[in-house]
Amino acid sequence: MKDISCKLLVLGAGPGGYVCAIRAGQLGVDTVIVEKAKAGGTCLNVGCIPSKALIHAAEEFHKLRAAESGKSPLGLSLSAPAIDLARTVAWKDGIVGRLNGGVTGLLKKAGVKAVVGEARFVDGKTVDVETETGLQRIRAEAVVIATGSAPVELPELPFGEKVISSTGALALKTVPDTLAVIGGGYIGLELGIAFAKLGSKVTVLEAMERVLPQYDADLSKPVMKRLGELGIDVFTRTAAKRLSADGRGLLAEENGRPFEVPAEKVLVTVGRRPVTEGWGIEEIDLDLAGRFIRIDDQCRTSMRGIYAIGDVTGEPMLAHRAMAQGEMVAEIVAGHKRSWDKHCIPAVCFTDPEIVSAGLSPDEARATGVEIKIGQFPFQANGRAMTTLSEDGFVRVVARADNHLVLGIHAVGHGVSELSATFALAIEMGARLEDIAGTIHAHPTQSEAFQEAAFKGLGHALHI
Ligand code: FAD
Repeated sequence: MKDISCKLLVLGAGPGGYVCAIRAGQLGVDTVIVEKAKAGGTCLNVGCIPSKALIHAAEEFHKLRAAESGKSPLGLSLSAPAIDLARTVAWKDGIVGRLNGGVTGLLKKAGVKAVVGEARFVDGKTVDVETETGLQRIRAEAVVIATGSAPVELPELPFGEKVISSTGALALKTVPDTLAVIGGGYIGLELGIAFAKLGSKVTVLEAMERVLPQYDADLSKPVMKRLGELGIDVFTRTAAKRLSADGRGLLAEENGRPFEVPAEKVLVTVGRRPVTEGWGIEEIDLDLAGRFIRIDDQCRTSMRGIYAIGDVTGEPMLAHRAMAQGEMVAEIVAGHKRSWDKHCIPAVCFTDPEIVSAGLSPDEARATGVEIKIGQFPFQANGRAMTTLSEDGFVRVVARADNHLVLGIHAVGHGVSELSATFALAIEMGARLEDIAGTIHAHPTQSEAFQEAAFKGLGHALHI
């Protein structure tokens, strides 16, 4: 097969890689992208998109079941709703397929050459790709490593038919009667809640003191309350051990006390590891930080002309961070002056209720040595939240006490994911409490709680 030479070679077509390649192509950079599986990577195929489709379907089904049991406060009632999970999964796969086609089309439109197969480094500027039609050698002036991450497997509970990763959970065609979730981070809780709403008896086992340890306790509290309402058992400071001898349950240990959890399926969500092994990366002289690739504020690695973006570069492992890095690197390769100047990367946890975090938490802000003001407004006092049965939660604004510069904004509540962009914009634009309080927010909307939190920070909330 004839060798290919190009200016930019992108390895991996997840949100980091495909955005980088599209932007480079738009800027006239001769670009090749290599992907061993499907365009869109983890996010589109087995992550963000399919999980949110399943979460939505589960929520709809759960609402119908509430109406069936006569418990709907809205006065709705109906008889015996049912779910055909195989059809739900087919619907979800249809969305993924449409978006796969969209990404492939966008790459083509930007003039990017796509090669399908697993890339393997020959040297820092050359890779071999095992394609369906033979070995393809590609040489490039610049290389972007965007090979993403994969689920961590527990040695004593290898993935298979019964023990599944998030990928396996998103492909289940029937709802398991019992589901044990190992790991109470955002992926485990998002999926655990979805399956509880679909009818599984869910048990969550978490080694740390509490679930969602990356969020402060105030933010995770409304989620904990909801887990209880959904009948989800949560065991913290608990280690999952192995499957029981009859294979029906999962053996665990809480503070030295052994016990068994019923588990038709065991979902392991204990973290994700960067894909930095097994494809020749060890043979080039790249500096790693642990298992992640070390980068600077232009995503340059320790080797000249090699960049790394997305999950391979560490936390936060989020699709929008990967995309922002990809867009920046494409511009750098095209000769533009760019560096990472983002003040915040918002994070959304699509649990019930949802959690949004942008910028610094109160503790992080205090740790910088500044005095802070906190304004918090509960959805209980928000009219729109009442009309949508969404009164649990709040919006919280953290600002400097001296000049009221907003340092962090957090919210927990129904549908708050849609407020994340507003929060990030406020921080990126250097908003002060007065800017938010002085912006007219449409009534009745949940976003009024954001304005009220800013008023509260200034000492005079209007509706509480
Ligand atoms: P990836 O998306 O992992 O893409 C890497 C690509 O590289 C893959 O397609 C892989 O096949 C390919 N590849 C690897 N090695 C090679 C090789 N040698 N040759 C060729 N190709 C290779 N993030 C959010 O922001 N919001 C969410 O709501 C969210 N939900 C999630 C839910 C779940 C269940 C999971 C698992 C993840 C979720 N994430 C979410 C995280 C998000 O998916 C990742 O942060 C994001 O996909 C990282 O993008 P990336 O481009 O770095 O890598």
